[in-house]
Amino acid sequence: MPYVELALAGALLTAVVLVARPLLRQARRQRLMAVPFPEAWRRIVEKNVPLYGRLPQALQQELHGLIHIFLDEKRFEGCGGLEIDDTIRVTIAAQACMLLLNRKTTCFRKLRTILVYPDTYVAKTLSSDGRIAIDDHSVRLGESWQNGPVVLAWNSVTGGASNIADARNVVFHEFAHQLDQEDGVADGAPVLERRSAYTAWARVLGEEYAALQKSREARRRSVMSKYGATHPAEFFAVATETFFEKPRQMQKRHPELYEELRDYYRLDPLQWTARTRD
Ligand SMILES: [Zn+2]
Repeated sequence: MPYVELALAGALLTAVVLVARPLLRQARRQRLMAVPFPEAWRRIVEKNVPLYGRLPQALQQELHGLIHIFLDEKRFEGCGGLEIDDTIRVTIAAQACMLLLNRKTTCFRKLRTILVYPDTYVAKTLSSDGRIAIDDHSVRLGESWQNGPVVLAWNSVTGGASNIADARNVVFHEFAHQLDQEDGVADGAPVLERRSAYTAWARVLGEEYAALQKSREARRRSVMSKYGATHPAEFFAVATETFFEKPRQMQKRHPELYEELRDYYRLDPLQWTARTRD
């Protein structure tokens, strides 16, 4: 075959692959959304992620599908001697996927690998080469790298998930960073569905970030962790934790911020709290 025809055939093949790959992935995801959720996995989620019990049934159903997709597409790696099992995979996937419910999602498209250490101490020791910038404040430990892995300490994951009202959840925190970084910049502004939404987002989050910084300087109490005052990206991650775990306080003290996050996540955790009190 002449060289030109070969080149044309190659270009055509590349084009077909480029078009076909997303379509195949989409079809695979659709199939996975419909796969029954194993009973053993349900028990793991019910035990380790109490917030799951508050979700309306339709969202629980959607979460099951998202967990299947997440576990199909992401690789878990145990570090510091930790052996990865279904409890670890499903517990982390369930919380990460709560951030994806109810909206168009690319399922953390830049993320391939989740590294899990047994505990904060081992993670810190093994990270002492300086390769890792750690989200390390009080009880949490984890980190999220742009185009790289999410790193979590298993004891922080279980500790963060078990108390659903302390606004401390390392998986929500690190995967909020992933959402923030999807546009290539960790600046506290994830990809919003409408261009027009960025103006309100920047105003509200900018004002709230400045207010949290002032609270920190004045040593005033705040609904959100003061760690959120260290950087706009940390503010979004901390606000996400607070949104899911302290929706009532956030809505009361920071109604505009609550509204921005409710519009972004297309979820209203306040309703879930109300639901459990019936
Ligand atoms: Zn962080």
